[in-house]
Amino acid sequence: MHHILSASQFNRATILTLFTTADRLKQERRDHGVLNYLHGKLVYLLFYEPSTRTRTSFGLAVRYLGGRTEFTEAAGIFSSAAKGETLEDTIQVLQSYEIDALVIRHKERGAAAAAAKVATIPIINAGDGDGEHPTQALLDLYTIVSAFPTHNNLTITLCGDLKHGRTVRSLCRLVIKYLAGSTENWNFIFCSPPELAMQTDILEELTAANIPYKIATDLAQTLLTTDVFYQTRVQRERFPDAIQGDAAWSSVQASFALNAQNMATMKPNAIILHPLPRVGEISPEVDTDPRARYFPEQTRNGLYIRMAILLTILHPKK
Ligand code: ASP
Repeated sequence: MHHILSASQFNRATILTLFTTADRLKQERRDHGVLNYLHGKLVYLLFYEPSTRTRTSFGLAVRYLGGRTEFTEAAGIFSSAAKGETLEDTIQVLQSYEIDALVIRHKERGAAAAAAKVATIPIINAGDGDGEHPTQALLDLYTIVSAFPTHNNLTITLCGDLKHGRTVRSLCRLVIKYLAGSTENWNFIFCSPPELAMQTDILEELTAANIPYKIATDLAQTLLTTDVFYQTRVQRERFPDAIQGDAAWSSVQASFALNAQNMATMKPNAIILHPLPRVGEISPEVDTDPRARYFPEQTRNGLYIRMAILLTILHPKK
């Protein structure tokens, strides 16, 4: 593993090894506090789009492993991108300062791959427009597998803005790789307004992998059979204009939001996930239900999965 660009680059063995490493680092961190695996290493966080969890958890993951970070936030404004410098040139400049790895979030699909083409150091995709968010998918799958240790049959519902959401795209691709060659039977339900439906490239990849899916618009019906309910926000920043973004947001609020009332019909051992931030599509009253796992479990898993990724890339023998 050198770069992390897409969820499709993993296989079941590499996924399970990362999960075991995350389990181990969780314990070591709790027993020993700050570890020293990345002593002397510097990871650069280059973020062109807003982030709370990904940037903070990558930053803390580096520090908890004993390394250091430097970063540029709002890089579209605060780097020479604002003067017209290409992403490729920015990467070549940063790596000339002898950094050890670079975590990048960018508004364009394919940006991390473009960065990797000129990079001599590992590039980690922390979200490329409406393309992918592979480290989010790893923490999501880690949360799912931890919640269902015997997970032979699972129905995973992905809900909300499936058209523009990069986390749901990566999660589908990671599940395809995770299930390849296994006897587990998982299926997906894609529950969204028709105008926010999952894109056909992902549907075709699922079909090719023999993973069944259904397209749904009835949330109440969907909730009855769901084991993993994965809610997402409307990605308003990806709409051509604010009016269309507002309309899509309203349609999700009206018919696809989870609340104490409609979740009452969910299975008692179902789990509710959200990559966050949420913007009204899960009511705060849901948070105290034991099935809600976005706070703190799913969020916290991001820290341990990112520690596992960094250790694997920067210190593979540990
Ligand atoms: N935080 C996730 C992402 O960066 C989900 C979202 O923004 O809705 O894709």
